[in-house]
Amino acid sequence: MHHARNVLESAGIRAVVRNEYLSSAMGELPPAECQPQLWVLDDADAARAELLLTEEPVGSEWECACGESLGAQFTQCWSCGRARGAGR
Ligand SMILES: [Zn+2]
Repeated sequence: MHHARNVLESAGIRAVVRNEYLSSAMGELPPAECQPQLWVLDDADAARAELLLTEEPVGSEWECACGESLGAQFTQCWSCGRARGAGR
């Protein structure tokens, strides 16, 4: 969740993580009610923020257009040189 916020802030979008302190205090609520949520402070940034987070799944592998599977830490394909997210 904090990683997601960092992604947004590096793109110039201000965001805050809500509920992170409630998680431990409200143990009797269903887990879904206690999950930290990422709030974008400016509504005008919401659509762009969603796009950014969709384009960069946190901590997941990705597959290049050439078919190579790459770890989450790589931003470029070592096989064909394409940047992550390019030319699907
Ligand atoms: Zn490739």
